[in-house]
Amino acid sequence: MRACFVFDPEAWRLPEARHAVEVVASLLEVRWRCAVQGAEVSPGEPIVFVGRPAGAPPDAAAVVPLEGWPRWVPSSLEVATFEGEPLPCPGGDLGEAGDSCRLPQVWLRAIGFLIQRDEEFLDSRRDQWECFSGFTTRLEALGILDRPLVNLYAAQLARRLAAWFVRRQVTPPALPRWKDGARFAVALTHDVDDVQRYSLRGAWRLLRLARSPSSYALRGGVSMALRTLRRRPRRGDPYWNFDRWAAEESRHGLRSTFFFCPPEPSRRHENDAFYRMTDPVEFEGARMPLAGMLRLLAERGFEIGLHGSYLSHRSAEELARQKAQVEAAAGREIRGVRQHFLRFDAGRTWAAQECAGLSYDSTLGYNEAIGFRAGIAAPFHPWDPEARGPRRLIELPLTVMDGALFRTLKLDAASAVRRVREHLERVESAGGLAVLLWHPNAAAEHLFPGWWRCYAETLEYLASRRVWIATAGEIAEWWRAREERARGPE
Ligand SMILES: [Zn+2]
Repeated sequence: MRACFVFDPEAWRLPEARHAVEVVASLLEVRWRCAVQGAEVSPGEPIVFVGRPAGAPPDAAAVVPLEGWPRWVPSSLEVATFEGEPLPCPGGDLGEAGDSCRLPQVWLRAIGFLIQRDEEFLDSRRDQWECFSGFTTRLEALGILDRPLVNLYAAQLARRLAAWFVRRQVTPPALPRWKDGARFAVALTHDVDDVQRYSLRGAWRLLRLARSPSSYALRGGVSMALRTLRRRPRRGDPYWNFDRWAAEESRHGLRSTFFFCPPEPSRRHENDAFYRMTDPVEFEGARMPLAGMLRLLAERGFEIGLHGSYLSHRSAEELARQKAQVEAAAGREIRGVRQHFLRFDAGRTWAAQECAGLSYDSTLGYNEAIGFRAGIAAPFHPWDPEARGPRRLIELPLTVMDGALFRTLKLDAASAVRRVREHLERVESAGGLAVLLWHPNAAAEHLFPGWWRCYAETLEYLASRRVWIATAGEIAEWWRAREERARGPE
């Protein structure tokens, strides 16, 4: 038994609408399929009709009105409310509002607007790193960036299906959203930007990238050289704290993903990491080359991913090369990527990553804001505007970064802990996925006051919840397998 999304022929000809339906359907906890009106539907299948409401069958479990796919101008969006949840739409006008069966006129278009990242194609503003910024998104202006909107809309649809099942007195086989009946999921991730605070070699590498007297590489290189020369005592390094992350997570029975930068990008930008896989690091009580630590982390069950270099986010060839470099160091295949500085081009980055053989990305978040860039707290297949269809690649949207809490919001440890908890409560009540990013060097507490404490207390808090915590790769894999179950043969 499965839900059947029946499209009228006109709606069926809109691939954007089909994609939006597929993403929202993937959040349901029942199996489902899509069909065009006229296809055979078995009597046990609840129908979710998509198209002109007048054409809906009388016993439809839900009706998703759809007439065309109008262009939405981001600045025209205001918040309307439907069943207690905010719904951004032009002028805040729901059109024909919904009822116990029908959803509002703008419902599906809003989902498309969010997940297909319309505003990133329509709004050309970018920040100093050429990123579409958390200050630019209309969702921030409307105060709804930290609401997992698409999950909330999926719940509105799920309630209609549940009512249909109750009327028929049937119980559909459950399709749990997360492993082991967890209410929500959390991916733990780390971007490894720095592995040594003190290194003359590192200072020299940075200085060589300096292109002008005002460049970051010059300032960074000089200050690194000076602090290395002045350092007393000359042992160890405050950034050699990978043990601490591994121990804290292992203590809770958890594993995380470490995204490592490629040692030799074809073109290096001054914002790039400058470590090499031969650089020294201390791990598990021994001094070893960085590559040795990657292998040990992988052996201990941590995932190694690629932290694509600053200039790699539009190049499949370059990402493939970088993937191979980190694979050679780690001695195993890499499936996931996050771009350094979250550099991301909605028209090209996913395409490049997919072509490079990567199976998931976790870049889609903001450097300066907490919340859901695509309005969704779950893995999803991004939209490919050229092919007008879903991509194979899975996106795990990044939702909280340490820097956003402590640098942009300038929170102290206690407020940051509260802010993360609020975020997690929203994700939990929406049955969603939160993706946390803490930079490993932030465990040097005298240099990053509050950062470690916030992470440790967050893990402590999560230990009391019914949550599935895993590496990004495990969650992407679970989602793919679940898709098979949701849409595969009975
Ligand atoms: Zn980075």
